[in-house]
Amino acid sequence: RSKEEGKGRHTTFDESMNQHIQERLALESDLRHALSNDELTLCYQPIVSLVDGRLVGVEALARWHHPRLGPIAPTRFVNIAEEAGLSISLDYWVLRTASKQMGIWNQQLATPLSVSVNISTRQFQRTDLDKAVQMILSESQLSAKHLTLEITEGVMMQDPHGAASILQRLKALGVQIAVDDFGTGYSSMAYLSNLPLDTLKIDRSFISHMIEHKENAAIVEAIIHLARALSLKVTSEGVETAEQAAALRDLNCQQAQGYLFARPLTVLQMEQLFQQQASHRRAA
Ligand code: C2E
Ligand code: MG
Ligand code: MG
Ligand code: MG
Repeated sequence: RSKEEGKGRHTTFDESMNQHIQERLALESDLRHALSNDELTLCYQPIVSLVDGRLVGVEALARWHHPRLGPIAPTRFVNIAEEAGLSISLDYWVLRTASKQMGIWNQQLATPLSVSVNISTRQFQRTDLDKAVQMILSESQLSAKHLTLEITEGVMMQDPHGAASILQRLKALGVQIAVDDFGTGYSSMAYLSNLPLDTLKIDRSFISHMIEHKENAAIVEAIIHLARALSLKVTSEGVETAEQAAALRDLNCQQAQGYLFARPLTVLQMEQLFQQQASHRRAA
């Protein structure tokens, strides 16, 4: 191999590295712009009772339609936000938008619903998260008990002692706490019983394979038993088939979320769903 070739390769590598960094920086700056110009939107995915099929709440999920690149996956822009120091603004925007929206909906609905909001790592570790939540609640019509904060198991277990004190301050406001992606974060059972939690959300990876792989069904069953022992509610994520729903019902899982029931919906689609439900009730 000649020296020239080696050099050529080196240049190409540098150039592609450079291009990668440039793209990343451009995306960061676009996201910063999107956040300050209300270019993000929220979708709401129904969470239903497996006992009677009723809607019990929704999870707010952020969406970013980039003007040039089209839709960007939430895991990607949440990641960019974390690295660019924008996750606090992102979470704050989501919390405020979702709380205001659910406050308005609950004024109109016969039975109030709860809204779940995902809290990112940085936001959770921020010492004044409870102050931010309190301020948002006072700005919206939403009652605290109808706001659920979803915190991933991994983030909680990074520092269980710190997590306990943050969660206690949040619980003092009257909000609900759910552990997101449960089963993937190696929780210590001892710590789990010391945390003021309300709900475990079983990670989609266990639900997806629970019919073909007995081990996954066994894990789901164990989580449901654990939750019952600790007096926590359970929501199964990513339920896509009627077979999965039936198996979960047999295991006494109370709540589920997934494409079988509904995809994440726009505000307009949610309002159409509310209207359908109201007219069903009138007909019944
Ligand atoms: P997550 O909090 O576990 O949210 C559930 C994800 O599973 C959502 O993906 C939802 O669309 C998807 N999902 C729901 N049901 C099904 C199903 O039946 N099948 C399949 N295949 N998927 C299903 P999404 O919206 O792409 O969000 C991915 C992740 O990005 C979320 O996982 C959450 O960790 C993060 N995320 C989304 N929105 C926000 C946000 O507003 N703030 C923060 N901090 N993170 C967010
Ligand atoms: Mg979530
Ligand atoms: Mg989840
Ligand atoms: Mg998940």
